[in-house]
Amino acid sequence: MQRGKAYFFSQLFGKRLPRGNILLASKIFCPDILNALCNPIKPAILRVLATTLLIAGMISPLQANTAHSAEKEIVVLATNTIIADIAGQLAGDYAKITSLVPRGQDPHNFDPGPSDLVKISNADLILLNGMQLETWLVSLIRRSGTQAARDTVTSGIAPIYTGQYEASIDPHAWLDPVLGKTYVENIAASLKKHLPGRAGEIEAKRSKLLKKLEEVHRFTEEKISSIPEEERILITSHDAFRYFGDRYQLRVESVFPTSADAEITIKDMAELNNLIRKTEVKAIFPESTINPRLVRQLASDNRITLGGKLYTDSLGEKDGEAGDYISMLYHNTSTIFDGLTGQRLEAKKPEQEVPLILTLGIVALLMGSFFIMWHQMDLGHGKKDN
Ligand SMILES: [Zn+2]
Repeated sequence: MQRGKAYFFSQLFGKRLPRGNILLASKIFCPDILNALCNPIKPAILRVLATTLLIAGMISPLQANTAHSAEKEIVVLATNTIIADIAGQLAGDYAKITSLVPRGQDPHNFDPGPSDLVKISNADLILLNGMQLETWLVSLIRRSGTQAARDTVTSGIAPIYTGQYEASIDPHAWLDPVLGKTYVENIAASLKKHLPGRAGEIEAKRSKLLKKLEEVHRFTEEKISSIPEEERILITSHDAFRYFGDRYQLRVESVFPTSADAEITIKDMAELNNLIRKTEVKAIFPESTINPRLVRQLASDNRITLGGKLYTDSLGEKDGEAGDYISMLYHNTSTIFDGLTGQRLEAKKPEQEVPLILTLGIVALLMGSFFIMWHQMDLGHGKKDN
């Protein structure tokens, strides 16, 4: 058997390998495959198989190196995780991109610390939402003395005034996938300006991301429009869904106004109780960055469903249900549909591209299996002939 292995690996690598290396390599392969391969196989077949495996092995590191070997060309600081994710999808290979407000934290009431001063001082570019979201940013920029360029990613979006305070704007335009396209356009334009040598790559990624957002929009439009009009009432922890509500014709109400640090009165709660009883809405929804106590109490008092958690001001855990912007949008739509209809809709996941190395690996395995089967049939015929 050892002799067979030595023969196989010497054919594969074009020279004899030391015994230790053969043993190590042989552990990687399935023994059955190895047994079959170590039979005296025609060298031509071995060469084809070896070439396929080697090409697969060589392309993988090349691909990885393209993304990681070069030093990141610029430092981009986004104010929240949604903007950071979009920027990362467009230019994560060429720019070091971080979010000032970490995942799971409320961007309305962010309290920057000394490390945030360092981050902003080192940035080349700051991407901010605007629309009164980052009230803490002006002071941070002034104290840091940063020379970073600044771009507002909601540029061109017509703001919705909430009416709760004079000239108070709802900043959560990102929750509407159609307006999300404006975010992508603005962020791509900004990144291309600061990475002119990468404009082609950013442009290609911009097109892909816009297509994904169009798919989320179609999905959301179909699901929300299937809910009877009188039941399209979205009650959440804070006032974040006005753009979403406008787009998909939902009435939106909330326990807290645009920012969740406001005082809530008994009158506010009584009005929500009345609304829930009058409309017979089936569910109300907590949010990932806001204490669910009051929403839970409302659901319990009215004996209605406490819907699933919505992600509004931040992405969720990196590998979780709302780990990136597109997943977050799909998750929110599915959760709202489930709560308001009482049906269970599996959250649609964005389509993942199959990595090239996986495709080549599968091709190599299929070819290997084919050659083994063909060779064994060949041997079988040979025995019969003998
Ligand atoms: Zn918010």
